[in-house]
Amino acid sequence: MARVAFVGLGNMGGGMAANLAKNGHDVRAFDLSAEALDKAKAAGCLPVGSAAEACDGAEAVVTMLPAGKHVEGVYTDSVFGAAPASAILMDCSTIDVATAKRVGEAALAKGLTMVDAPVSGGIAAANAGTLTFMVGGSAEAFDRAEPFLSAMGKAVIHAGASGAGQAAKICNNMVLGAEMIATCEAFLLADKLGLDPQKFFDIASVSSGQSWSLTSYAPWPGVGPETPADRDYQGGFATALMLKDLRLAMEAASSVGADTPMGAKAAEMYQAFNDDGNGGLDFSAIIRALGKKE
Ligand code: NAD
Repeated sequence: MARVAFVGLGNMGGGMAANLAKNGHDVRAFDLSAEALDKAKAAGCLPVGSAAEACDGAEAVVTMLPAGKHVEGVYTDSVFGAAPASAILMDCSTIDVATAKRVGEAALAKGLTMVDAPVSGGIAAANAGTLTFMVGGSAEAFDRAEPFLSAMGKAVIHAGASGAGQAAKICNNMVLGAEMIATCEAFLLADKLGLDPQKFFDIASVSSGQSWSLTSYAPWPGVGPETPADRDYQGGFATALMLKDLRLAMEAASSVGADTPMGAKAAEMYQAFNDDGNGGLDFSAIIRALGKKE
């Protein structure tokens, strides 16, 4: 088993580092938060005093940080100077494609091997070790990263060259945002037309309107498997995080001149819903902005 540096032990990183430790790795963990460090210690990791200290002598480095500026800062200020040339570097945060490529190129220029490896799946999947990883980097980098990512997930997919993992993540979540709004609209229209929401669910789930937002994550309470809609839209995937991913998608679209009118509308609607004080609610709660009363 290997010595692994883990930086960023928040909602997602805490569970991921715990799973690496559970798989027998010697995890040197660092976060700016003392509380996060305590939790990591209880989960079998060794808390250390800095990102550089975590990277010293590491065979693998995993980062799970809020945004591009944190990732660029941690790699530039700590990881690049401290990690051995033989280490495999994996950034699992969701960040903008441009920063992912820039940090990947900086690693390469220093003779280091790095992948961007953002995840699909929320806090529950991070804790359970059932995340999906979408990996950007060379074939050799992917092969080296795969065993570590497998210890934290159920699927590890090579998306392509550096930055391709982030591209896959934001394209996926752009579909999800637009699809959720369309699903909410359809439930509300069905209801207004006098069609029982359960009947709409039963029919659309086996028809061409089927989607993950409908079948696995219905925004209407009481239909389909249990979802945040059944818990007053608590827990799940926060509106603020959906908005973050849609913003990243819009930024990426404008950088390459891609036309994404549905994604842009979804970003605009999630921005308004977030600004109305709903950032902490599950993203399916946007059905309330469309007219659902309870
Ligand atoms: P979080 O805010 O809970 O955790 C981030 C952690 O990074 C915090 O503990 C913070 O103290 C730490 N941190 C920040 N700057 C640091 C630094 N310079 N050095 C060391 N530690 C530092 O966020 P999260 O929910 O765990 O999300 C992490 C990433 O995963 C984000 O990019 C997010 O978009 C992505 N993501 C989150 C979810 C989710 O459901 N929460 C799902 C998929 C992807």
